[in-house]
Amino acid sequence: MTENLNPFAIAQAQLDEAAKVLGLDPDMHAFLRRPQREFHFNIPVKMDDGSTKTFQGFRVQYSDARGPAKGGIRFHPDETIDTVRALAAWMTWKTAVADIPLGGGKGGVICNPREMSPGELERLSRGYMRNIARYVGLFQDSPAPDVNTHPQIMAWMLDEYETIMGHREPGAITGKPLPLGGSAGRGPATALGGMFTIREAAKVVGLELKGATAAIQGFGNVGSFATKLAQEVLGIKVVAVSDEFGGIYSANGLDYYAINEHLANTGKVIDMPGTQPISNKDLLELEVDILIPAAIENQLTAQNADNIKAKIIAELANGPTTPEADDVFEAKGIYVIPDFLCNAGGVTVSYFEMVQNAYQYYWTEQMVNERLDHKMTTAFHAVHTMAQEKKVYTRVAAYLVSVSRVAEAVRLRGWV
Ligand code: GLU
Repeated sequence: MTENLNPFAIAQAQLDEAAKVLGLDPDMHAFLRRPQREFHFNIPVKMDDGSTKTFQGFRVQYSDARGPAKGGIRFHPDETIDTVRALAAWMTWKTAVADIPLGGGKGGVICNPREMSPGELERLSRGYMRNIARYVGLFQDSPAPDVNTHPQIMAWMLDEYETIMGHREPGAITGKPLPLGGSAGRGPATALGGMFTIREAAKVVGLELKGATAAIQGFGNVGSFATKLAQEVLGIKVVAVSDEFGGIYSANGLDYYAINEHLANTGKVIDMPGTQPISNKDLLELEVDILIPAAIENQLTAQNADNIKAKIIAELANGPTTPEADDVFEAKGIYVIPDFLCNAGGVTVSYFEMVQNAYQYYWTEQMVNERLDHKMTTAFHAVHTMAQEKKVYTRVAAYLVSVSRVAEAVRLRGWV
C-alpha cells in the first residue's frame, strides 16, 4: 500500500494516536479533529504586464480555545487547503506545548513568488489582507511569516490592515520589520529555539555537541539561521546544507558566511567553491550526529527512514516526517525532537512581539533570547518527562502535553 502523504490526514492520525493514549473523551476528540473555521477566497492581482491574475488564498483558524489564533502565511505553488489545515493544527499544538496564551491558525496562497516582481507581491499581499482583515487582529488571529514570506510582506499586510481598520494595531501581524514594531530576535528565533532543544536533547542522549556533525535541509528563513547558530551557539560542525536546487557537502564543515555570500551572488547554495555537490535525498541519509530538516513537509518517509543514520532528528520544518517513518525511528531509537516542539521558537518570539506591541515598550535581543531559552527548555522537558513516564515516542508525548492543555481550555469554555 502506498503511504498517505496528505498532511491533514497525517495530522489527524497523529491526534488519533494521542487521543487513544490519553483516553480522550470521544466528543472532545471529534471536536479537535477539525478546524474551528476557515476562509477561502480569490485574490485578483494586477500583474506588471497589464493582465489580471486570480490567486487562491486560504486562512484556517484551527483553534482559538487558548487564545487568539496564531500562525504564518505561506506563498507556495503546491499549497493546498489540506496542507494549510494541517499546519494550522500543528500551530495549535505548538502554542500549547510552548505554553503561550494563543491558539493555532495558518494561511496560504497558491502562487510562485519566484516568478513575481516586488510590485506583484505587494499587490498580492495587500489583496490577501483585504480578504481577511475583518477576521484577524491582536485579539482574533495574528498572521506571521512562513515559507516564502518575509518581514517586508508582513509590513505590506500590516499597512493594509491598519488602513482598513483606521487605527494602528501592530500586534495584528508578527515578524514585522523593527521600525514598524517588530521584535529584536524574531528573525533567528525559530532556529535559535531549535538549538535550545538540541542542546537539551544532547544532554539526555549523552551526545557531546562540540565537534558533533549536522546536516541541514533547507536554507530559507529557518535553515540559514540554523546553519549559523548550530556553529556559533552549540559548536556543531555543519557538513551539509541544501536548498530546493540541491546541496553542498564538506567533511571539514561549511562556513555560514561564505555560503551566504555565494547565495547572494548566485541565488543558490550549489556550486560553492571548495564543496562537493550532494542531492537533497543523499543529504538526509548522511552519517551525521544530527539531522535538521528545515524545509517542507514529507521529507522523511517510508522510502528513506531505514537509511537515516542520525542520532538526533531536530525537526525545524513543519511536518517533515510521516507516521510510517516515525515507526522506523522509534524502533531504531533515534531521538526525534518533534516539529511543533523543535520549531516553537518562532511563534514564541511572535508572542513576545505581541506583548511588546501591546504595552509599547521594547526588549533587548538578550532579554528576548533569555526568555526564549526558558520557554523552550521548559517545553522540551515537559515533553521528555512525559515520554519517559508514559513510555511513549517523543511525538506522542508532545501531543499528550498539548492536547490535554487545549482540551482543558475547550472544557472550561463549556464547548464540549
Ligand atoms: N510560521 C512559523 C511557524 O510555523 C511562525 C508562526 C508565528 O510566528 O505565528 O511556527
